[in-house]
Amino acid sequence: MAYKIAVDAGHGLSAAGRRCLKSIDPNETGEWQLNSRIAGYVTEHLKAAGVQTLRTDDITGEIDVSLSGRCRKANAFGADLLISIHANAGINGGSGGGIMVYALPNASQSTKEWQEDTWRQTVAETGLRGNRCHPLSYANLTILKHASMPALLCECGFMDSTVDTPVILTDGFARKCARSIANAALKRLALYKNGSGVKPVYADANRTSAIGSLNPDETCRLMGTCGNSMIVLYEVTSGAQYYPADRNYKVGFIN
Ligand SMILES: [Zn+2]
Repeated sequence: MAYKIAVDAGHGLSAAGRRCLKSIDPNETGEWQLNSRIAGYVTEHLKAAGVQTLRTDDITGEIDVSLSGRCRKANAFGADLLISIHANAGINGGSGGGIMVYALPNASQSTKEWQEDTWRQTVAETGLRGNRCHPLSYANLTILKHASMPALLCECGFMDSTVDTPVILTDGFARKCARSIANAALKRLALYKNGSGVKPVYADANRTSAIGSLNPDETCRLMGTCGNSMIVLYEVTSGAQYYPADRNYKVGFIN
């Protein structure tokens, strides 16, 4: 069974007031459009890692699915994680802002680690550090409360900040943000994604005899650590993917 992740692009196209400030963005780009672009890239990354995904919003943007409706879809899907994607407001044309990530106040330690990891990775990738003193926030948000699986809500920059808005309107920002959100979620599921060059996989923790390799962007199952090596379950023939039942898997060690 593959892992499942529900992805929610907050709001719908017509959501009142949920758009960029006209003095900064003459097009007054809607929040759902920004959310949906990031959500689309997140699901692409997750699918490439062998995760099943479900968009709980209306992917045409026409219907603003209720918060409880979004949770019902995610719960019925049997999602292992839920990620709700939003853009923030409240700066009123001033400067500053940044990325914020919300979890429930009573979230588990592993969900809080996932929350912090998501924030750190998105800020490191996009540079949208901002000046919010509580970028890791805890609130009983409906979407988090009614999800029966660990859930996070990401506020991906401010739609009314002279600093954030020009950045969050770009496709490059959406791609970087999505990649970070997806990678943090894979880490939460203990899926290791190789993000750089070819990485050798060894038969032993001392990393002396290579038995295969992982290509950039290939994913395998992280089983644990041993000394300064990670123990992984990976596919012998091509390295990628975790779950297909008809493949050959081996335990190996990577640095
Ligand atoms: Zn929102």
